[in-house]
Amino acid sequence: MKKDDCIFCKIANGEIPAKTLYEDDMFRVILDLGPATKGHALILPKDHYANLFELPDETCADVMKLAKKMATRMTERLHADGFNIIQNNFEAAGQTVMHYHLHLIPRYEDDGQHILWNPTTVTQEELEKTMEEIIK
Ligand code: AMP
Ligand code: ZN
Repeated sequence: MKKDDCIFCKIANGEIPAKTLYEDDMFRVILDLGPATKGHALILPKDHYANLFELPDETCADVMKLAKKMATRMTERLHADGFNIIQNNFEAAGQTVMHYHLHLIPRYEDDGQHILWNPTTVTQEELEKTMEEIIK
């Protein structure tokens, strides 16, 4: 299903042009308009899912297979030194477009980007408590 007022639905389904790297029945892969690095791309499902939690399990599997295929090709063609695959859910996690998308970000030595988090410190007790919260 598409959502009428969703820009990524329109891009994924070809109603708004974008630089397309790959397309099949389920997905379109486009270059990001505000790239973190050269080649930064987005995998967009053609159907509208707001985020990971709405994405069907089979589509999750398909999206990761496609990510691997694209990352392999992009690394080779762009001579990348590394690769980040990132996916944001909800505003608090940095999601700005509420149509599921997976970021494919080729990394280069000294590319000046800082995509990783700042590590904090934690006690064994805190880790234990968090673990219990998740698994219980
Ligand atoms: P996120 O913050 O995870 O929701 O990522 C949204 C991404 O979409 C950002 O990296 C934007 O640069 C990118 N973006 C927004 N609009 C467009 C567009 N029309 N074409 C290509 N990329 C876009
Ligand atoms: Zn959409």
